[in-house]
Amino acid sequence: MKGSVWKVLEPRNLELGPAKDIESDRWKNWRMALDEGGIAWLVIDKAGSSANTLSEEVLREFDEILADLETTKPKGLVIRSGKPDNFIVGADVKMFQGMQDAAAVEEKVKEAHSVVDRLEALPFTTLTIAHGNCVGGGLEIALACDHRIAIAGAKLGFPEILLGLHPGLGGTARSTHLIDPTEAMKMMLTGKSVDARKAKSLGLVDAVTEERHVRNAVRATMSGDLKTRDRGIKAAAMSSYPARVIAARQMRHQAADKAPPKHYPAPNALIALWEEHGGSLADMKCAEQASFARLVVSETAQNLIRVFFLRSGLKAKAGDESEVRHVHVVGAGAMGGDIAAWCALQGIRVTLADLDAEALGKAVGRANTLYGKILKDGAKVRDALDRLIPDLAGAGAARADIVIEAVPERTDLKQKVYAGLEAKMKPGAILATNTSSIRLEDLAKGLKRPERFVGLHFFNPVSRMQLIEVVRHPELDQDVLARATAFAGQIDRLPVPVKSSPGFLVNRALTPYLVEAIAMVDEGIAKETIDRAAEDFGMPMGPIELADQVGLDICVEVAAMLRADLDPSMPEIPEWLKDKVEQGKLGRKTGEGLYRWKGDEPVKPEKGAEPSREMTDRLILPMLNACAACLREGVVADADTLDGAMIFGTGFAPFRGGPMHYARTRGVDDIVSTLRSLEQAHGARFKPDEGWQSVESRQQADSDLREAV
Ligand code: NAD
Repeated sequence: MKGSVWKVLEPRNLELGPAKDIESDRWKNWRMALDEGGIAWLVIDKAGSSANTLSEEVLREFDEILADLETTKPKGLVIRSGKPDNFIVGADVKMFQGMQDAAAVEEKVKEAHSVVDRLEALPFTTLTIAHGNCVGGGLEIALACDHRIAIAGAKLGFPEILLGLHPGLGGTARSTHLIDPTEAMKMMLTGKSVDARKAKSLGLVDAVTEERHVRNAVRATMSGDLKTRDRGIKAAAMSSYPARVIAARQMRHQAADKAPPKHYPAPNALIALWEEHGGSLADMKCAEQASFARLVVSETAQNLIRVFFLRSGLKAKAGDESEVRHVHVVGAGAMGGDIAAWCALQGIRVTLADLDAEALGKAVGRANTLYGKILKDGAKVRDALDRLIPDLAGAGAARADIVIEAVPERTDLKQKVYAGLEAKMKPGAILATNTSSIRLEDLAKGLKRPERFVGLHFFNPVSRMQLIEVVRHPELDQDVLARATAFAGQIDRLPVPVKSSPGFLVNRALTPYLVEAIAMVDEGIAKETIDRAAEDFGMPMGPIELADQVGLDICVEVAAMLRADLDPSMPEIPEWLKDKVEQGKLGRKTGEGLYRWKGDEPVKPEKGAEPSREMTDRLILPMLNACAACLREGVVADADTLDGAMIFGTGFAPFRGGPMHYARTRGVDDIVSTLRSLEQAHGARFKPDEGWQSVESRQQADSDLREAV
């Protein structure tokens, strides 16, 4: 044994993984020590990072350690994490960014495989003890051990599919050979993690324990008392090729329902890998390397990796810790009720005011349903409901750190509400509005303290749309802006700072897209075909369905406002649509709008004919044109922030990396010349915005993002 590197552990050091006083300056990211029973404890503790990720350096050091272990041969090996809340959260995604050469990637993947194979081949018992997140490459390392024990509360999963990839460190083969392969495939195809208890029932881990019992669990494992679960009959059947062909067909079908294979190739690549090679662990491990390499260099994966960094960038904008303890929401309608429910779900005390007691009752009812779905635990649901306090008298305004107004979209009404609130609010509290279209300068007129007034524009449905536009105006205090932005982070939303201007960013970009769709209906093009044009491009739903979802009354109002304030060339709202609104046919909320609705689903009688390329351009390019205008006017700071906002606020095709990234990939010249042709064919509304002149090249922008992360 190399005494200088390994040191006998004190028992106390075993409680949360070996403690910091274990000296080992040989590795930057790992520490190792022997316990009194001759078991080696290897702790991953990546330098300078709060989470363990697998980088080339981490794997290289791991390889050196494994070489040591091969010669020193301890009685057993326990792998743990030194981070308080995670085991290993996967590969360092930065490694994959910008990769273009599949053969070079395959070489690197092969090297990484040889490290994990080396772990698997160690001639003594190996055990991973996982707490917190044990996902991606972390789970793949765990799978190469003889045993796995999860600490209660751990989450295990393969999120690679969300980046357009599948596991690439032997995980596809090891998981499908350890547990029921259909369950393993389900985990990899959905990217959803399972909790420790579920992992145990699947056989992914051998035991679940509490931190205080770790030493006993290690002792039991090393003395051979911990048994690995049998894979079951179904798993054995899947070792036959014909059985896999049948199962794979069904998997393809289900996967295509969630993500079209032409835009998202990873699910089919994974299914083909298992279908072809699932009968042999060695073959599948080998084939996984080439398949993973092909995916990493694909445009889809590169763009989804970009989206991953865009999200981190927006999260980082939330900046400092926010300590809002009490939120007061005024207006318990569609938005206010859901904003209040969301804040209470995030652990904040919330008072919710409305003039109408029935609106308060309905809001609490919706919150109850939401909590049931998310929390799934009666006691937790009750606690969250306890934090959401209906407040007919509006007394909570005096105690709140932030007051969010969500009353109907009328300037006079909102101003009246502010006058009442300002008289009650505590000095340091923030006054926020959820207005979607009124300029903050107009709303601020008459305020005693306009410097603490800010826009927090949530999107509908609040629990699913991650974006909040944080709207500034000239009189806003910078500290209030920073606190409002941090509050968005506190409630687990992504803040995008925007300038007060008509429609801010997201509605301004979406409106020309919706209005063009209405113009196309007016020309007699089938609604289903119009929706299909956008869906085939990669939008989560077509514009006609979206207009019904948002509410035709709101769409008509916002379009009229933008037309008047910004763009008189925008087509007028046709009379038949105004009539619909007058008749109360407003879309999903009234059961009929442009479609008839059955619950949350529109009734679409036909799939829609194949749309032409021009139809897609007519829908998408006006949205891009509005984005270019927003950049030129400084409504949003830069193209990456804009791309993130459009992806997280509208669901803009993530595999395209955002509207401006799409424009750069397709070529700004092509976008501008297509807009010119559309302008000639359909009118001035397609006139290319001057902002295109300053949209930089794709290569430049990509390297900027790499620098920033
Ligand atoms: P809503 O009509 O569903 O709800 C408004 C609520 O405010 C009602 O319950 C009403 O009783 C209450 N109210 C009216 N006057 C009040 C007063 N003086 N004091 C207290 N409560 C009062 O409206 P909504 O769709 O929730 O919209 C609210 C705000 O959110 C608007 O500014 C809207 O532009 C914005 N917004 C809406 C959406 C959306 O999709 N609906 C999305 C983003 C932002």
